[in-house]
Amino acid sequence: MQAWSHACKKAKQGIGFVPTMGNLHDGHLALVDKAKVLADKVVVSIYVNPTQFGENEDFDKYPRTEQQDMERLEQKNVAVVFMPDTDEMYPPNKKIDFIPVPDFARELEGAARPEHFRGVATIVKKLFDAVLPEHAIFGEKDFQQCLVVKNMVLEYALDVEIHTAPIVRDADGLAKSSRNQYLTAEQRLQAPALYQSLLTARQQILEGKLDYSEIESQAIEFISKESFDVDYFTIRDATTLGQPGTHNRVILTAARLGIPRLLDNLRVD
Ligand code: AMP
Repeated sequence: MQAWSHACKKAKQGIGFVPTMGNLHDGHLALVDKAKVLADKVVVSIYVNPTQFGENEDFDKYPRTEQQDMERLEQKNVAVVFMPDTDEMYPPNKKIDFIPVPDFARELEGAARPEHFRGVATIVKKLFDAVLPEHAIFGEKDFQQCLVVKNMVLEYALDVEIHTAPIVRDADGLAKSSRNQYLTAEQRLQAPALYQSLLTARQQILEGKLDYSEIESQAIEFISKESFDVDYFTIRDATTLGQPGTHNRVILTAARLGIPRLLDNLRVD
């Protein structure tokens, strides 16, 4: 991978990189499209990274559909699909030196999944070191992940420009996700309520309602009625994830519906 990337650099061709865990859908492919606009060559990685899964999570069951993914990427004309082995990413018989994560990575997704973001930061750094991209593209679907990656790039002065791309949704508003396939037919009909709750909350904020905690609790009540087990629904500052002011706000939510835990978010401003 590095040899190919060095050859590209020598030929003055810029590399745009899209890291994924595979089981590609239109959300991933939108990132590929963005990479194609930014760079001469596009590299997509497919790697289900064990260190970002908790012990009782779905690492073993995570959908692996390499053949189908390769066909979709071939249609997109990407230059390289990088599928490293775990022995390459995590040398055996060596303790992993994790990349430390900032305080804001300990709440929301980090509270629900305590070791998740250090696993994400570590694998993204290793993938950057292999692919040597000028540009890397991440989906706003994983809003907190985008901030963790940007923080790492700043902290270590990495020579990569981070871009984000909007959430791609199904026609009824449900954010596309590899984990949506775990929903039963009935749950799939209930699932768009999560996006509805975000739209309602945004509307209330834009109409000038200032009691954010009331907006949050009304939303939690609404989603819970639709059979979701809500983990969080919170209005935050979109840069720091701290307490929100009167601009640059984002609403973030995570809720379990049957087996999958669904994530969604919406920028207010
Ligand atoms: P994953 O394979 O789930 O690790 O996702 C790989 C990349 O695709 C991440 O940057 C995600 O944020 C992004 N992504 C996943 N789902 C969507 C979506 N519905 N819209 C936009 N980007 C997405």
